[in-house]
Amino acid sequence: MEIEIATIGGYEEVGRQMTAVRAGDDVVIFDMGLNLSQVLIHDNVETEKMHSLDLIDMGAIPDDRVMSDLEGDVQAIVPTHGHLDHIGAISKLAHRYNAPVVASPFTIELVKQQVEGETKFSESFDNDLVKMQAGETMSIGDSGNVELEFVHVTHSIIDAINPVVHTPEGAIVYGLDKRMDHSPVLEDPIDMQRFREIGREGNGVLCYIEDCTNAGRKGRTPSESHARSHLEDTIRSIEDYDGGIVATTFSSHVSRVSSIVEFAKDIGRQPVLLGRSMEKYSGTAERLGFVDFPDDVGMYGHRKSVDRTFKRIMKEGKENYLPIVTGHQGEPRAMLTRMGRGETPYEIEDGDKVIFSARVIPEPTNEGQRYQSERLLRMQGARIYDEIHVSGHLREEGHYQMLDALQPQHIIPAHQDLEGFAPYVDLAESQGYAMGRDLHVTRNGNMIQLVE
Ligand SMILES: [Zn+2]
Repeated sequence: MEIEIATIGGYEEVGRQMTAVRAGDDVVIFDMGLNLSQVLIHDNVETEKMHSLDLIDMGAIPDDRVMSDLEGDVQAIVPTHGHLDHIGAISKLAHRYNAPVVASPFTIELVKQQVEGETKFSESFDNDLVKMQAGETMSIGDSGNVELEFVHVTHSIIDAINPVVHTPEGAIVYGLDKRMDHSPVLEDPIDMQRFREIGREGNGVLCYIEDCTNAGRKGRTPSESHARSHLEDTIRSIEDYDGGIVATTFSSHVSRVSSIVEFAKDIGRQPVLLGRSMEKYSGTAERLGFVDFPDDVGMYGHRKSVDRTFKRIMKEGKENYLPIVTGHQGEPRAMLTRMGRGETPYEIEDGDKVIFSARVIPEPTNEGQRYQSERLLRMQGARIYDEIHVSGHLREEGHYQMLDALQPQHIIPAHQDLEGFAPYVDLAESQGYAMGRDLHVTRNGNMIQLVE
């Protein structure tokens, strides 16, 4: 059976991920992501209203025109998890393929909301949305010997999976995005046992496509429970403070949000989630039963209800509340940034605490915006608690363990630019792989033929 891989997006950047695998006549697409930084760099761009070709030209979504060189029928579009760099282009591109979107329940729900928020293509989008759980399989095409499997992984968003396409030539494992978490918060540990089995059964692993994000960092990425105890220690240390405490984190990181909610309650404060995306992710997770917030946790998305909540907090006393808000990267329109600029009814006073349960994404725009936001908060006397966070991506030893478990014949580094691939290439070479032979460093828009 001919096996070919199209590296469509996310091979020159972090963002706009998209990869296609052809096994005989059948094609499976992994991810259709948005490169948000290419959008935010332009002022006031509303992607919802933009045409896909303009977004391709902007470098915001994958240039999928290379798909016409792939001879086969697309049978499934498989987003691995709900981060925008993996699902953000589905509303722009999926309608061109006569195939269902297949994903885990939480991811499907986020895809659904994204498509509903789309004005340009919402009418042409009629792809089926199919839920599949980790551990389940689905047959692909009519040949009877291609199968799709989901393996449960742990990442900075719940319900993430690594999809595997089983073919007679071996398995193709798509490794974006994960860390190896054996004591996560809210969900099961990563299913390493299944990866080890896949590495040994049948013809083993033909190809492993890997997220290289933290390949250059030594050791292993700590568990989410590590960030959780760091958070607990921080919040406990300010338990006696009788002024304002505000926390910010990734709104999509529901595990983290739930830890903050819990510790806020522990110190006798009422947690409130503020901001549209806070309401979206946490509300969805709660509806689907991934998390059970205390009944009195407020979630407010709309500007008016947020302002009303802030006014109530100021009236009843900041010492009774712990607002959890957006703005951990200093995004100009996010809640914390607006609070720093004094644009909300919440007044930050001398000695108030601001907890950043996030790390600054090392990119000049983010770093500049975050710097500004922090300066504004400090000018009002805020005390800053920073980097209470663990990454969602594997470091060097995690990558080594994955190679050891899977023993792939071929490797394709992904989710980075050339500079980001370099440490992963070093690791793979130390394990006997060679560039141009079985280690395929590539760019966006290329085809790699693995079996002719
Ligand atoms: Zn991710």
